[in-house]
Amino acid sequence: MRAVKPANSLLSATGTTIFTVMSALAARHQAINLGQGFPDTEGPADIVRIAAEALLDHRNQYPPLTGLPELREAVAAANGRFYGLMIDPVTGVVVTSGATEAITASLMALLNPGDEVVLIEPLYDTYLPVVKLLGAVPRLVRLQPPHWELPRAALEAAFGPKTKALLLNSPMNPTGKVFTPEELGFIADLLRRHDAYAVCDEVYEHLVFSGARHIPLATLPGMAERSLRIGSAGKTFSLTGWKVGYISGPAALMGLVAKAHQNLTFTTAPNLQRAVAAGLAKPDDYFAGLASALETRRDQLDAGLRRLGFHTLASAGSYFITADVSPLGFAGDDVAFCQEITARAGVAAIPVSAFYVGEAPRQYVRFAFCKREEILEEALRRLEGWVAARPLTALA
Ligand code: PMP
Ligand code: GLN
Repeated sequence: MRAVKPANSLLSATGTTIFTVMSALAARHQAINLGQGFPDTEGPADIVRIAAEALLDHRNQYPPLTGLPELREAVAAANGRFYGLMIDPVTGVVVTSGATEAITASLMALLNPGDEVVLIEPLYDTYLPVVKLLGAVPRLVRLQPPHWELPRAALEAAFGPKTKALLLNSPMNPTGKVFTPEELGFIADLLRRHDAYAVCDEVYEHLVFSGARHIPLATLPGMAERSLRIGSAGKTFSLTGWKVGYISGPAALMGLVAKAHQNLTFTTAPNLQRAVAAGLAKPDDYFAGLASALETRRDQLDAGLRRLGFHTLASAGSYFITADVSPLGFAGDDVAFCQEITARAGVAAIPVSAFYVGEAPRQYVRFAFCKREEILEEALRRLEGWVAARPLTALA
């Protein structure tokens, strides 16, 4: 007999995030963790020092609901400097506890139960549960590997009279795709025609390579008034544990975002906010250097994986590279493959099927390359030993 009433059924049906699952498995096997996306070096020492000093100068009480003025000003200035977007620091910015909160707050601000939201698979793991918890209806559209182009007819078909919003992640996790100007133009046209909003998860905005350029959807004609643009200090300053995010957008929407934020966390650590404000004011060479250092690591891992027989897919942004493991002849799916290499090779990765709802491709795994050169070399050495042994069966 059941002692208590069932609690929330959606959350009961939601598993622990794959990033936590694989990090725990990596720890158990002392594996090099190329699964969960976090750098293995600290972010800029001057920014960390500003945060440390800011703990000691008597500003440790609640900061303002929408964020410290200096950070809101820095976010508005960064919008202008990098993209030519005019954002009002008072009415157009809300600081959140990470982009994760920003995504939820943005969806809360826009959606009523029954509204439809267009989502693009493979998709980041918090999108779907939050859309469903808000009583909204997901409409999923799939990009197809290996090139992850936007399927225009399917996207158009996903829009209808009930469409309230589209959630766009560019640069995209896990694919490393950076949406092209033509694709963004097509999306913008659909949003205009259906009078829908865009939630733009741009946490990897500064991590773009291969000559690709990140273009915020909000910069396209008619998009600024219907877009909420999300950034993450965790990614921009290689300090993922800080959980400082920011949303910028039109005042009419940002007032509602602020109300969502007041009900979620109300505010975010002031010391970290002060340091992030200083970080956003760093000169251009900091941002260029961040991308070029990551590009070198991407090339290193890409070349190493190819040498071992993986078929890697192009990655023009983010921390991640996707590899097709089928050429290795492993007799199991992507989940079994990731378990196998974590336990037997001592290198963890993330199965890409975790970014899909229902039937998914089963031969792709995601590796994070935001690690030191010697760590990537060691991971490749370990994988080489494992590949040489050529196990043809999955772990029991
Ligand atoms: N969106 C995407 C696509 C991500 O990969 C991540 C990863 N951390 C987040 C949002 C969350 O960012 P934050 O750590 O700032 O909450
Ligand atoms: N965004 C990170 C990734 O994709 C993980 C964040 C998390 O663990 N929640 O790997």
